[in-house]
Amino acid sequence: MENENNSIHPFEFDLICNFFKRLHRQGPGSPEATRLAAGFIGPLGPDAEIADLGCGTGGQTLTLARSFEGTITGIDLFPGFIDIFNRNMVREGLSDRVRGIVGSMDDLPFGEGTLDLIWSEGAIYNIGFGNGLRLWNRYLRPGGYVAVTEAAWLTPERPGEIQRFWDENYPRIDTIGNQLREMEEAGYQVVAHFILPEECWRENYFHPHRAAHESFLKEYPGNQAAEDFIGMQKHEQELYEKYHEYYGYVFYIGRKL
Ligand code: SAH
Repeated sequence: MENENNSIHPFEFDLICNFFKRLHRQGPGSPEATRLAAGFIGPLGPDAEIADLGCGTGGQTLTLARSFEGTITGIDLFPGFIDIFNRNMVREGLSDRVRGIVGSMDDLPFGEGTLDLIWSEGAIYNIGFGNGLRLWNRYLRPGGYVAVTEAAWLTPERPGEIQRFWDENYPRIDTIGNQLREMEEAGYQVVAHFILPEECWRENYFHPHRAAHESFLKEYPGNQAAEDFIGMQKHEQELYEKYHEYYGYVFYIGRKL
């Protein structure tokens, strides 16, 4: 199974995780966006089985736990994130029904047809949108829901600079129309979709990044890889400011047929 992380040197992966664990969220999003998406699904009841795939440190899981009853299993590849995730749930008094485990989203520890809801914000890109939706379908009960965010082109055409950036970093980015079709082809009825507002990037993602840059670099004095990583982050922010009308994250909510 193709996985972008396989191409990252282990040291670099640790370095990236060490940066992102300072943040409440590891991807663009907001409590409002999570609640809005949850609102399309409605109550699932106290016996609901929910999975949050690529959960990171659990920023969105906290909102999810307040939006639904039932049990939530967070899964992430990085043990450092899962440690923080579980500490956060203890602190918030949620550890009796929200648990984080280390694992991969392409090898899930659930039985077929056992889940009521699969949630995944800013993470399905690791295995590809269509591929992930197809793969996860079997774990949902009929009528179960999937809610994911994915990077998308917001216009049919875009300037060369931003096209090249995505071609180099995530060539599988696609238009909303094509992603809706992929969701249908993967066996779901599309319940809703919406573009994440710009605050999800600015206030909730890039702003906390800027605060974390300094403390991170202090931990890696003279380390070129760490400096390159922060340089790349800054470049990403500049591109977003310049080209945000052409791309963004889209929330897709689907129901298994
Ligand atoms: N959902 C969180 C984190 C998004 S960042 C948020 O929105 O804030 C993407 C996450 O996917 C990271 O935590 C990364 O460790 C995780 N990840 C990457 N590949 C994965 C895989 N194959 N299986 C599970 N998690 C993975």
